[in-house]
Amino acid sequence: MDPALQDMDFAHILQLEAEDQQRLRQGGCPTSCDTCNQITGNLFRCRTCFWPRIICRSCTLARHAEQPLHRIEGVPDFKGTTLAMMGLVVFLGHGGAKCPQGVRDADFTILGLDGAHDVILDFCGCDQAPTRGEQLEAMRLHGWRSAHAALDFEMARYREDLGLIQRKPEKKRTRKDSKRR
Ligand SMILES: [Zn+2]
Ligand SMILES: [Zn+2]
Ligand SMILES: [Zn+2]
Repeated sequence: MDPALQDMDFAHILQLEAEDQQRLRQGGCPTSCDTCNQITGNLFRCRTCFWPRIICRSCTLARHAEQPLHRIEGVPDFKGTTLAMMGLVVFLGHGGAKCPQGVRDADFTILGLDGAHDVILDFCGCDQAPTRGEQLEAMRLHGWRSAHAALDFEMARYREDLGLIQRKPEKKRTRKDSKRR
């Protein structure tokens, strides 16, 4: 292994992050969105995106239309917020587009390996719409303990591995299938 990689120290990453936050807090914060250049005092950074750009509210929402579980913080105060609080609505059915008869659940929680995410879900409410459970399943979400909570796929698989989720007997699969990822 490259000795430089072996020597990597997480403390150094923490230091880089602390220096970055300090610089942003002490007047080093940009005054405009990195994406649309709009001048605004209302800037955000995503902790989950690979490139943590400092961008405005509308660019944050546009960028996360298909990533509703990312963690957002304000800049330069680094106060955590959520995409739901910023107004992001997750539309089910219709390939992610808004259903003309959507049924809103503004108090839904999706549990992932990185914790709980508050989301605003808009279920398809068309006449022939699948059930809420089927709409969650289509997104690989496993309804959990209430009508307003679900596990994401990784979390559900983790809990199944631990034996905390039982498969229904009629859907029993072969050993080979159950090992398949
Ligand atoms: Zn912008
Ligand atoms: Zn993101
Ligand atoms: Zn619909």
